Amino acid sequence: MIEILGPTELARARRTGKLVARILQTLRNRTVVGTNLLDIDRWAAAMIEEAGASSCYVDYAPSFGRGPFGHYICTSVNDAVLHGLPHDYSLSDGDLLSLDIAITLDGVAADSAVSFIVGESSHPSSVAMIEATQTALRAGIAAAKPGARIGDLSYAIGSVLEDAGYQVNTQYGGHGIGSTMHQDPHVPNAGRPGRGYKLRPGLLLALEPWVMADTAELVTDGDGWTLRSATGCRTAHSEHTIAITEDGAEILTAPAPDQL
Ligand code: MG
Ligand code: MG
Repeated sequence: MIEILGPTELARARRTGKLVARILQTLRNRTVVGTNLLDIDRWAAAMIEEAGASSCYVDYAPSFGRGPFGHYICTSVNDAVLHGLPHDYSLSDGDLLSLDIAITLDGVAADSAVSFIVGESSHPSSVAMIEATQTALRAGIAAAKPGARIGDLSYAIGSVLEDAGYQVNTQYGGHGIGSTMHQDPHVPNAGRPGRGYKLRPGLLLALEPWVMADTAELVTDGDGWTLRSATGCRTAHSEHTIAITEDGAEILTAPAPDQL
C-alpha cells in the first residue's frame, strides 16, 4: 500500500518527525563510554511515553524476526548494522554505535537512524564510512522530487556508496511510511534511474543508506534480530524520513540547530 498524505496528516508528520529528531539527538548526546544499551532503551521509552507517542518497535513482529521486538530502539554496535536488539552491554571508547528509532504520534510514524563513534577515540575509516552513508542520504534526498522515480533515488544513493568503495546490499533499504512504519514503495540502496514508482507530493519516504566495510553479506545474530556483517567488519547507517512536496523533499527528522 502506498499512502499519499493530505495537509492535515502532513502537519502531523512534521510533529512526529521533530519528536523523533529530538529523541534521537538527546540519546546521542547522553551516550558516553560506559553507557549500557539497556539504558538507552529505557531513556527512549521514557521520552516516547512523556510525549504521548507510541513505539513502532515494541510489538513489531515481522516474519524475519523472533517474536515481538520488545524494545524501543535499535542499538547496533560495530559489526551489527540493522535491528540491533538492546542487551546488557556497556559501550567502550571507540565503539561505533548505530541508533535507529521509529515512533507514531497522532497516527503518523517517522523513522530515523544515526551512527557515531562513542568516546574520544579516532577511527578514521569508521568516520569515513559513516560520512559515506550521510553523503548518500543527502544524494537520495536531493533526487527526491515530484516526477522522479524510486530508481532515481536508489541510483543516487548507490552511486555514492559504490564510488566510496562499498558494496551495496539491496535486501534491506528505505521504504514508504505514513500511518504505519513500513509501507510500499521499497527504496533499495542501489538501482537504475528512471525505474519504479513515480513520486507525488504527499508521499512520505524513509531513506536509509547503510554499508559494511568489506562485504555485502549479512548474518543474523543468535538473538534472532540483530543483523551483523558476515565478516565481522564495522558498519554504518543513516536514515531520515522525508516528505515529497511540490518543491522537492522536506526532511522531517532533521535535528533542530539547538539540539546539536
Ligand atoms: Mg529506521
Ligand atoms: Mg526505516
